[in-house]
Amino acid sequence: MTVRQETNRIPMKLPQGALIRKENGISIFPGFCDVHVHFREPGFSYKETMVTGSQAAARGGYTAVCAMPNLNPVPDSPDHLAAEEALIRQAGGLVDIYPYAALTVGEKGQEAAALEELAPRAIAFSDDGKGVQDEGMMRSLMERCRRLGKILAAHCEDESLVRGGYIHDGAYAAAHGHKGICSESEWGPIARDLKLAKETGCAYHVCHISCKESAALIRQAKREGVDVTCETAPHYLLLDEGDLQEDGRFRMNPPLRGKADREALVEALLDGTIDMIATDHAPHSAEEKSRGLAGSAFGVVGLECAFPALYTGLVRTGILPLEKLIEKMAVTPRERFGIPLREDDLCAWDLEAEEVIDPEAFESKGKATPFAGARVYGRCVRTVHRGKTVYEFRIQNDKF
Ligand SMILES: [Zn+2]
Repeated sequence: MTVRQETNRIPMKLPQGALIRKENGISIFPGFCDVHVHFREPGFSYKETMVTGSQAAARGGYTAVCAMPNLNPVPDSPDHLAAEEALIRQAGGLVDIYPYAALTVGEKGQEAAALEELAPRAIAFSDDGKGVQDEGMMRSLMERCRRLGKILAAHCEDESLVRGGYIHDGAYAAAHGHKGICSESEWGPIARDLKLAKETGCAYHVCHISCKESAALIRQAKREGVDVTCETAPHYLLLDEGDLQEDGRFRMNPPLRGKADREALVEALLDGTIDMIATDHAPHSAEEKSRGLAGSAFGVVGLECAFPALYTGLVRTGILPLEKLIEKMAVTPRERFGIPLREDDLCAWDLEAEEVIDPEAFESKGKATPFAGARVYGRCVRTVHRGKTVYEFRIQNDKF
């Protein structure tokens, strides 16, 4: 292994407005921003901590993340949110971590959280991990978010349609005797919510869309002027049920869908229907991911392989211009969520470096990713946050 670059010659600032700067064979981008990560604290430190999550983010080129509230305690009151904020402060600011607050108490969908008190300290509201089942409750949450000027970020899942499913209700499930999750369990609630968002004027953001119907609904709603944005994750753009293996690292919610869904998501990314790419970085312990498709916990990690996987699968193949990918990973998430794009937040990549994605090298405690073993291009050589180097590639092999 050789070091192909001199990282100490990388500038520490990007000129205002520049998305890509090339210097000495290194490509420099604004620091990425992921609006959907699970850093698992407080409550589940064995899966991830604020520190290990931050290290994973920095290694993936991210300088800002938004942390989802399916925690213990759930940040549904000022005291509960304070517990999470203390952990964020203690983590030392390797990257900026913006907490979401919950929409409902305990994310149970029954009783609204203390939205008014939480609003000044939360980046947005979400019950991620759970869909808000009741339409009346969702309407009232949207009205309150609208008054507070906060985004409502929805995990859309109709529990009455899940029926014990854990992978896409498609050809693979049928052929291998697995229980499927139909696409309507996702697009049904999206259709409901888009109507409510139109009526209430709420700033509505749809988390991790995975199927073609969701993209079509959101495209139409944007045409009608609804204040809606959405994200998808790298695995929904690059993989489908044809890639499934009998392994827990292929189990996430929503599941990998069909080929037509994947293609529709790429099209939606290109035409602007999909505003941003978020990883839904969802670490679990090795044991929790060791029980195959049927028995593992839902969720895969994403921060440390998102850019190389997307760059290799979409940019080098000529599907997506590099500039567009950077926009979707660094610019549009910040614009929508009101996170400043700082000129001293950047990541530097050797785009010609070939890597095999090796979860054992991850900083994250979570190792489960469907991209394990994939050959990709792109190595993050440095991440700079607020002018300070927070990650730098070092060769492991000291024979060199
Ligand atoms: Zn979710």
